[in-house]
Amino acid sequence: MASKSRKKGKAKIAFFIIILIIIIALAYAYTMGYLDPVIDMVNSHIDNSKNPNGQLSGDKDDNSDEGKDNDDTGNEIDESYDLNDYLDATPPITALNTGDLAIHFVNVGQGDCIIIQLPDGANMIIDAGSVYNSNTIKSLIMDYIDNLQITVFDYMVLTHTDGDHIYYMDDIILNYEIHNFYSPSTTTSQTETKAYQAYIDARDNETGANYYINKKGLQITGQGYSIDFYSPAQDYYSDVNNYSPIMVLDYAGRKIMFVGDAEKEAEEEFLSNYPDGIDVDVLKVGHHGSETSSTQEFLDAVKPEYAVICVNVQQALGKKWIHPNHDVLARLANMECEVYRTDLRGNVVLYITSLGQMQFVCTMEESESGLIKPVETSTVINVSSMTKWYIINNFYIPKNKYFYSIG
Ligand SMILES: [Zn+2]
Repeated sequence: MASKSRKKGKAKIAFFIIILIIIIALAYAYTMGYLDPVIDMVNSHIDNSKNPNGQLSGDKDDNSDEGKDNDDTGNEIDESYDLNDYLDATPPITALNTGDLAIHFVNVGQGDCIIIQLPDGANMIIDAGSVYNSNTIKSLIMDYIDNLQITVFDYMVLTHTDGDHIYYMDDIILNYEIHNFYSPSTTTSQTETKAYQAYIDARDNETGANYYINKKGLQITGQGYSIDFYSPAQDYYSDVNNYSPIMVLDYAGRKIMFVGDAEKEAEEEFLSNYPDGIDVDVLKVGHHGSETSSTQEFLDAVKPEYAVICVNVQQALGKKWIHPNHDVLARLANMECEVYRTDLRGNVVLYITSLGQMQFVCTMEESESGLIKPVETSTVINVSSMTKWYIINNFYIPKNKYFYSIG
């Protein structure tokens, strides 16, 4: 009996020693980062099960546009930053002379809302959304439109169904008269979103309107101007961003290109259909300056002298996506392309006269302190080798070579 219980006791001790060795081994592997692939796998599984299609889950507060595009650029959090301080419903320029054209890139934070006052008095709106569905941004857009004394949009273009482009489209349809709708062709998963359904319901209730599906070859013409659709050439894309039409507004010898959130796949499609490219004056940079877009080949083919990026880097910090991407900014800088960012300049308005004179008018001056500049490495408070993310002021920043800050 005694020997049996001693054996039992020994077995117990051996069992605990084995468990202890396993715990120590796991702790060592975790500390050394050997478990990162497993942790990443589990994390991505959790993310996927939360949002299996990578689409809006049906809640208007969700946004699927981002989250997949984890680029290499780190930025410093400005703790005192409040987007509300930079929102301004007063257009920096309103007085339009006959024959002049104004393109308003409204500062909605991370998201797109572009209002075009055409020279014949017609108005166009391309997208109305923001990364977080917000009544403040909705009111801002409405007030901005009212300040321009616009009551009718002759043309409404929805580039694609992501929240930062679609959220307030239904409100605009309900509050203003829309004559012509240009919508993306859609897949089943996109039609499941509340925001898309609200858009469709509002759109289809507008009486007397014309409906078009965004497609290569479409053209809008007016007094002295044309707007051509160079994509999409297909009815289906695996990524929702690539439904975004590549459009060029041509007026008074100037060409302005709008691309929504078109990514590399759409850019390549454009390049294969138009191998000679199109020399444009201004490019609305694709996908908020993300690394997914603005390949060197595409930029070489469109040769912009000026670029506008609808973006808010402070809203992006701490997420797995950071816009704009350092490499994209570097590509534009190397081409000596002058960049206007809505997070640094507020509302950005491009004014073109009937003689083709161009001027950018912005809500905010880009002061010396407002320029992007490298951050001292001492601001990196803690670097975690386990997570492969920098932790700065309790925000997680992808680990990389570059640090930039605003201010
Ligand atoms: Zn977007």
